[in-house]
Amino acid sequence: MTDFDYDFVVIGGGPAGRRAAIQASKLGKSVAIVDDQRMIGGVSVHTGTLPSKTIRESVLSLTGWRDQYFKSGRSRSSSDMTKTSINSRLATTLGDEVEVIDSQLSRNNIAMLKGKAKFSGLNKLAVSQCVQGKTTSYSVTAEKFLIAVGTKPYRPKSIPFNGTTVVDSDSIAANLPIPKSIIVVGGGVIGLEYATIFSTLEIPVTVIEAREKILEFIDHDIVANFTHQLFERGISLRLGKKIEKISLDDEGSPTVILDDGRQLKSEMLLFTAGRVGSVGKLGLEKVGIEPDSRGRISVDKDTLQTSQPHIYAAGDIIGFPALASTSMEQGRQAACDAFGVPIRNTANSFPLGIYSIPEIASIGMSEEDARDNGFQVEIGVARFQETSRGHILGSCKGMLKCIFDLNDRKLLGVHIVGEGATELIHIGQAVINLNGGIDYLSDNVFNFPTLAEAYKVAALDAYNRMPRSRMSA
Ligand SMILES: Cc1cc2nc3c(=O)[nH]c(=O)nc-3n(C[C@H](O)[C@H](O)[C@H](O)COP(=O)(O)OP(=O)(O)OC[C@H]3O[C@@H](n4cnc5c(N)ncnc54)[C@H](O)[C@@H]3O)c2cc1C
Repeated sequence: MTDFDYDFVVIGGGPAGRRAAIQASKLGKSVAIVDDQRMIGGVSVHTGTLPSKTIRESVLSLTGWRDQYFKSGRSRSSSDMTKTSINSRLATTLGDEVEVIDSQLSRNNIAMLKGKAKFSGLNKLAVSQCVQGKTTSYSVTAEKFLIAVGTKPYRPKSIPFNGTTVVDSDSIAANLPIPKSIIVVGGGVIGLEYATIFSTLEIPVTVIEAREKILEFIDHDIVANFTHQLFERGISLRLGKKIEKISLDDEGSPTVILDDGRQLKSEMLLFTAGRVGSVGKLGLEKVGIEPDSRGRISVDKDTLQTSQPHIYAAGDIIGFPALASTSMEQGRQAACDAFGVPIRNTANSFPLGIYSIPEIASIGMSEEDARDNGFQVEIGVARFQETSRGHILGSCKGMLKCIFDLNDRKLLGVHIVGEGATELIHIGQAVINLNGGIDYLSDNVFNFPTLAEAYKVAALDAYNRMPRSRMSA
């Protein structure tokens, strides 16, 4: 017997699941989302994107970071005041977000089913919910399903997690600690975002990364500029180093022994080296879907169908790029495909945003990618200190780099480090996806004073160095 029946059931209320549910509802389908958390939103709202960005914004404002150029020192508040202020901002921001999501789902007639879903048949889920120690179960059937269960932090057995001095990014988001010193294991996006947040609070930070380089997918000049800024602020980067062992002293403070024998001590350790798919107890064996060793599900890249054509997967569970931004679009694409209006994303590329302090953003090819792919390129660089807006803000350390194709003058990539990078990148995105190039950027008028003007400066920089034979009339 079935308790509920729908056209489309989405497992997971994160960005991928919500966007898919709304799209299917707009196509006239009956839709439900099953989510196992107390509040809707997924990792994006409760432990990932929004909490980390809200903490970042609070820290920038509490420390007066953006005004530091004009002041002799940064503002200091006690760690209690900092925590209270951040927690209050988190409560407001996340509360507002959940309210908007609830209202969007109810306006679109999407049923919200609470509980942990597990496939019990090809078209059937068993959902169980524990309320005040009592577990209740019900069944849900559907014509089509979307798996959008996301990921959780990777917690290897060798790391002595205790939730207080050895933590992962979920614990940090729940209650930002203000330790006297911190080691961040993992120099990926999440690790660097939190490392720079702690450093802005003037907490000594050491980042340990097993690879020889950080952010290998970002243009090397941008990473060099970013790394230089980290060094200037005293962040210690231990690259190409593996952890042999982590031990805790009587106070619980960690000591890390690296593979070169060096020992690093700190009051706290944040482990951010990887995430795994939340596929445990999802009953995938019942529907013949096999996740990989990191719990990721593979899909057809055009349709987002799994090996079972009526079961789709989207969001972090299908792997790279594992962003809220791309997850939403994948959810929409899956729902459209499931109900007969397939869309194919024709954009060449999607933007990457890294909310470290300073921000990094990127779209299209890096200089290295372009050269490796056989393009003859000209590079245009603008430093924010060359713009009037940069002087006004005092954020003189940023830079914007454009990669142009020497043959057809088109923009191939844009890479930015500095204030506003994650917003500014969308100008580059539009120009690239609309096949624009150096002439658009150098001939158009930009508002003055803006950081966006850096696009024009970069275009003119490249223009000045282009061989005469490649210049337009
Ligand atoms: C610290 C951090 C910072 C980030 N910053 C950014 C950023 O700045 N920009 C950006 O674009 N992305 C960012 N991300 C990534 C972003 O959060 C994810 O890409 C996004 O949340 C993935 O969405 P999703 O829909 O795949 O699933 P999720 O958001 O992970 O949601 C999945 C939901 O499914 C639920 N679920 C799991 N299993 C079951 C089950 N069996 N039954 C019912 N429910 C289940 C989960 O509890 C969860 O509520 C960040 C991530 C982290 C961790």
